[in-house]
Amino acid sequence: MKTFPRFLSRQAGRFFSPERLFGLKTPCFLPFYHVVSNEKLPHILNYPYRNVQEFENELDFFLKHFEQVSLEQLVSEKCRNKKAFHLSFDDGLRECSEIVAPLLLKKGIPATFFINTAFTDNKKLFHKYKASLILNRLHTIPDAEAEKLLAGHNMAGEKILTATIQQESVLNEAAGLLGLNFEDYLKKQQPYLTSGQLKNLADNGFTIGAHSHNHPEFWTISEEQQMQEVKESMAVLQKIITQPLKTFAFPYADWGVTGNVLKALHEKNICDITFGTAGIKNDEFSFHFQRYPAEQPGNFVQNLKGEFVYFKLRKWVGKATVIH
Ligand SMILES: [Zn+2]
Repeated sequence: MKTFPRFLSRQAGRFFSPERLFGLKTPCFLPFYHVVSNEKLPHILNYPYRNVQEFENELDFFLKHFEQVSLEQLVSEKCRNKKAFHLSFDDGLRECSEIVAPLLLKKGIPATFFINTAFTDNKKLFHKYKASLILNRLHTIPDAEAEKLLAGHNMAGEKILTATIQQESVLNEAAGLLGLNFEDYLKKQQPYLTSGQLKNLADNGFTIGAHSHNHPEFWTISEEQQMQEVKESMAVLQKIITQPLKTFAFPYADWGVTGNVLKALHEKNICDITFGTAGIKNDEFSFHFQRYPAEQPGNFVQNLKGEFVYFKLRKWVGKATVIH
């Protein structure tokens, strides 16, 4: 992520009205979130998430400046000349059904929910959430042995939040030393959507896609493993629910995913459409779309205006299209 040009774009964005900026010819606007809650969720330390009021304000802002479209409309040509937006939510968290969906239904906003099929029905906890829970525990009850183990694997202090899936066994070991039981946490907190909730979301007109099976960092795994993660999650999702469009959003980002993999997923009919998270950008592949991370820290409107300025700047220098 090139932060300096984005920072400058944010400053420049202050001088333009939203109407002027959002009127620019850009690809369909695709903001994405993870969770909305008024509560402090112990498993989520590494994403700044919105409370209900903030989220409602942002929905109203989208509705004021853009026209809501469904996923089907997004892939149809109809979307091209509209100032359209389509919302999505990653990681399949319970709040998507209990908090987000009712708000979206009330306001008539379509959305897509991307799930990690290993976690659905609270079967397993995401390694980043494990890291959050361990860090929480160490903040309240320091433990020399666990801290030494983590430091030995380059995960001292807040660095634990950068843990990758390859470090999951160390996280499990540290949790063991701390007497933290992730199974108990899954049972008690129920962080994830259940299959029943997913069916309900689909019955209410929302679209469901996959977000990999285990949420690995794709840039750390081989092409074969990448294909396997996508295939497995698409297959498990199809067993829970059949969707008209086979949709996949890469976990974190599409970094480290080559054009060959993207093409193969599409040509082998594993996915109809796929998503990255590079912000407002065109993509070299017509079946691959880039989304905008809406949960960034700072002022929401300034961030958004800055993103549109950034797109315009990149367009001027011929770099508004992602090449894989
Ligand atoms: Zn994710």
